[in-house]
Amino acid sequence: MNADAVKVLPGRYCNSLTEYSRFVTREVHIGEVPMGGNNPIRIQSMTTTDTMDTIGTVEQSIRMIHAGCEYVRITAPSIKEAQNLAEIKKQLRARGYTTPLVADIHFTPNAAEVAARIVEKVRVNPGNYADKKKFDQLEYTDAEYQNELERIYQKFSPLVKVCKEYGTAMRIGTNHGSLSDRIVSRYGDTPRGMVESAMEFMRICEMLNYYELVISMKSSNPQVMVQAYRLLVETMVAEGMNYPLHLGVTEAGDGEDGRIKSAVGIGTLLEDGLGDTVRVSLTEEPEAEAPVAIALVNRYAVRSQESRAKSQDTYNSPLTIHHSLLNPYAYKKRETYEANAFIGGHMVPRVVVDLSDSNLKDPAILSDAGYIYSPLLDKYSMGEQSVDFVYMADELPSFNLPGNLKQLYNYRTWQKLADKTLCHPVFSLQEYVEAEDRTSALNLVKVTNADVESEAFGMLTMDKSLVFVLETDELQGMADQRQFFFKMEELGLDVPVIIKRSYNLKSDVGSRKSEDDLPATHNSQLTTNLQLYSSTDLGALLVDGFGDGIWIDAPGIETKVITSTAFGILQATRSRISKTEYISCPSCGRTLFDLMITTQMIRSRTSHLKGLKIGIMGCIVNGPGEMADADYGYVGSGTDKVTLYRGKEAVKKNISSANALDELIGIIREDGNWIEPSPAQ
Ligand code: SF4
Repeated sequence: MNADAVKVLPGRYCNSLTEYSRFVTREVHIGEVPMGGNNPIRIQSMTTTDTMDTIGTVEQSIRMIHAGCEYVRITAPSIKEAQNLAEIKKQLRARGYTTPLVADIHFTPNAAEVAARIVEKVRVNPGNYADKKKFDQLEYTDAEYQNELERIYQKFSPLVKVCKEYGTAMRIGTNHGSLSDRIVSRYGDTPRGMVESAMEFMRICEMLNYYELVISMKSSNPQVMVQAYRLLVETMVAEGMNYPLHLGVTEAGDGEDGRIKSAVGIGTLLEDGLGDTVRVSLTEEPEAEAPVAIALVNRYAVRSQESRAKSQDTYNSPLTIHHSLLNPYAYKKRETYEANAFIGGHMVPRVVVDLSDSNLKDPAILSDAGYIYSPLLDKYSMGEQSVDFVYMADELPSFNLPGNLKQLYNYRTWQKLADKTLCHPVFSLQEYVEAEDRTSALNLVKVTNADVESEAFGMLTMDKSLVFVLETDELQGMADQRQFFFKMEELGLDVPVIIKRSYNLKSDVGSRKSEDDLPATHNSQLTTNLQLYSSTDLGALLVDGFGDGIWIDAPGIETKVITSTAFGILQATRSRISKTEYISCPSCGRTLFDLMITTQMIRSRTSHLKGLKIGIMGCIVNGPGEMADADYGYVGSGTDKVTLYRGKEAVKKNISSANALDELIGIIREDGNWIEPSPAQ
């Protein structure tokens, strides 16, 4: 047992829900770069080269190290690759790189035992280290289950002994979707199953007095991933453990989707104060991953400094109060009333964008908000990513807006509008309390967490036209806004809430007021920062079931970027589905085709299939398990060979990659899930 530094109350998963406080784990030694304790949150990634290609792997590792990786993971599918890690390590050291190496192991204990003698850390997947997954639904009696645990001990303990002898660390890395049949039979493919899968191995390590452990609970679904890590911490604390956490969202995909999905999952947990190392998995070159991880993690450097000064005991009180208001291990949307049959209740979260700085003489500007204007027909067409509200502040457009788009104006300007159809006022709290004019439809009132204690808040008229726009300018904005939701629960208020976050991404260093005011040198960096920060801040609240709408305010960033980021966050939190979801692996030394090109090719033909989940996986060994809840799977099964899946069932095996996409579309069509793309799509 290791009880050192376990400060969280038993039955809890973080120090505070309403203030940033890093959960202090035990320090684990990984070569010259220790992890956990008060060490910085470490950055890592994984190579995609063939491990037998020594030069290619060494050179890719060096590019990753230069991009910011503090550990480099390399796959070792069999003994020969495990042995070649020695050569790779030798060449890296000869070139002056001392970065610790991690061997990635699936299914092959013999390769693990070789690798553990060479590299600084091994990663094992408890779902497949001692078991072959057959997707069987087995029933185990307690005695049979106990026998299974004994069998795991026999298979796993030799590796633990090697790690102890060689001072090698180990990650026990559970993946949703590759749980053993034994675990699934007892716990289901659930966060609890993921946690138990790791705990079985962790208990064996402790039995053998081996503590150099790091734990992960990855899933391609950020909601499942967040719940699993939280449950893991609660379970560890209950058993007196506090091992460092490796955070990651698996198969996050590429580009904007990959960044948003990763930030929702990883960012939410970082906000909880959890996480000692981060790996962002993108279907891109591995050196593209570290900068994303660094941008996510850097936001907490300032907060860590601040929170270190505080006693952890001060966090226990609010947590105790609020624990009953939030189930962190299962999604439940906060109950609100439906305002104007448009927002709140069972409605999907609404999206607001600010058009007040746009050219309001040109109807084409609305295409950035998802409404395509045809001058010929003098008509707008809308799609799945058309926003619900546009905020005009005090500016009046000189053209007619679409008949289903709601416009928001500052109260004083709204008062003067001749035609108020589809126009709604936005009040300050004081304005609303004193207003002589309100609408019976929707009244939006800007509030902050601190306002709840104000006299004006107590004077609010709570009728069902009221919607809050929750703002914050706090450094710890997510925690501040989460506290507001707790207060709403305590007061029994079911008012719908639009969560608004403002990002001043262009300010220079000298005038920086908060961590969100980061300087950036070019637009793509600005865009990435916006995606990462807003996905963290808004995603963390949506994952907890809070929010009836979102509003991202980012002066200087194009409206179309803001619109697609907002819909991306809602998709990643699965609170509003507006597009196809791709669960594509980051690729590794096992990959059997070019994942980036294949993903783009599949996307180009299927991106209009809203709500379908398509897995694109590089190998048949891990792919089928790791694509988790995908509806269809495109999995590499040999050179130029692909196996297609419907759910977990392989329906076309080893077909030529030249026809595989057509065949996949044929299966989707057979199932009645195909629709023809519209000309605009
Ligand atoms: S699914 Fe992709 S990342 Fe995972 S082992 Fe296979 S090829 Fe590598």
